[in-house]
Amino acid sequence: MSDAPIEKVNLLGLTLPQLEAFFESIGEKKFRAAQVIKWIHQQGVLEFEQMSNLAKPLREKLATIAEVRPPKIRFQGDSADGTRKWLMEVDGGSKIETVYIPEGDRGTLCVSSQVGCSLDCSFCATGKQGFNKNLTTAEIIGQVLLAAQSFGLPVKDSQKRAVTNVVMMGMGEPLLNFDPVVDAMQLMMEDQAYGLSKRRVTLSTSGVVPALDRLGEVTDVALAVSLHAPNDALRNTLVPINKKYPIDVLFQSIRRYLDRLSDHRAVTFEYTMLQGINDSDQLANELAELAKTIRCKINLIPFNPFPGTEYTVSSRNRIFAFQRILQEHGIVVTVRKTRGDDIDAACGQLAGDVDDRTKRSARYIQIRDLTDVDAQVAR
Ligand code: SAH
Ligand code: SF4
Repeated sequence: MSDAPIEKVNLLGLTLPQLEAFFESIGEKKFRAAQVIKWIHQQGVLEFEQMSNLAKPLREKLATIAEVRPPKIRFQGDSADGTRKWLMEVDGGSKIETVYIPEGDRGTLCVSSQVGCSLDCSFCATGKQGFNKNLTTAEIIGQVLLAAQSFGLPVKDSQKRAVTNVVMMGMGEPLLNFDPVVDAMQLMMEDQAYGLSKRRVTLSTSGVVPALDRLGEVTDVALAVSLHAPNDALRNTLVPINKKYPIDVLFQSIRRYLDRLSDHRAVTFEYTMLQGINDSDQLANELAELAKTIRCKINLIPFNPFPGTEYTVSSRNRIFAFQRILQEHGIVVTVRKTRGDDIDAACGQLAGDVDDRTKRSARYIQIRDLTDVDAQVAR
């Protein structure tokens, strides 16, 4: 028994208060937490040995009981439009995907919260995989750390930082992995870590109402809700959780969330454009009436197809006609540009841990400008 290896505490996943409690629990001063959190999240230093403002005995002690362990990057692909995608391996061996989308002076990182998803939305590749596991806080914030590091800058450099916005819109339903997601978002907003403002961290949910109510009690990040249909009959067929929490109940919960905010932020409704399913003029008018009942903007997302799907994307003309109707009603509506589709990084293409890994690897090899990180490490 005494020979069993001690499981090291992974400091990467601890918020500042949690890290302070950790240092106190090992008989050290609380202020060490701020020093270590800066090393990790602002300098990207993961070895205690290199944390030069800690005394040597403390560094040695930390090395025996703790570690800073992010997911392992398995592949990295760069798209012609500047989008960068990583395939990362988490504990247990499953893979998750993280996508970086540059636009002007913004860099938005799309982060995964689960491996797979149990909610089974009919047009979503992640949903088709089913649920595999919840990510830990370290695995969620680790995606931000690795993405920021990959641009070779100090992780937090206010002049030229790579990651200016984070959206919880990768694989998984963030509200079904509540505590790790909230802690990771705390770290994104923590001054001693990434220091992103609450307006630059967005949680996207398909509408898990009880968890959304809880979210409003603990944080005030920006909120996106995946609507996709303006009435229950249609939404039930696209987003099955609507049968449990229908639009009316969902909207009441969103209003409660918005009412708690100290500013006048709106919710963003995501609406994936599916040809012949949810893209008619009539539905645009119905959506406009619904949108008028809440402080919101609408983001129309062209559907991204994946193998085996029954859906096709609405035509450009249809999407713009749909947008115009909403605008005529005075609704703020944007159309998302499809990015990174040459590397399967576009929305809904985050298929991750598919059964046939061999086939998947073969597909990755075809990514343009592919960097095989494992090969680099081996060199
Ligand atoms: N589970 C959360 C967050 C992850 S999905 C949610 O559902 O909100 C992020 C967004 O991508 C959601 O709005 C989702 O509906 C959308 N999406 C999923 N599959 C898509 C696809 N194939 N094409 C376009 N958008 C898709
Ligand atoms: Fe899950 Fe979101 Fe995909 Fe629905 S759209 S299956 S909630 S990841």
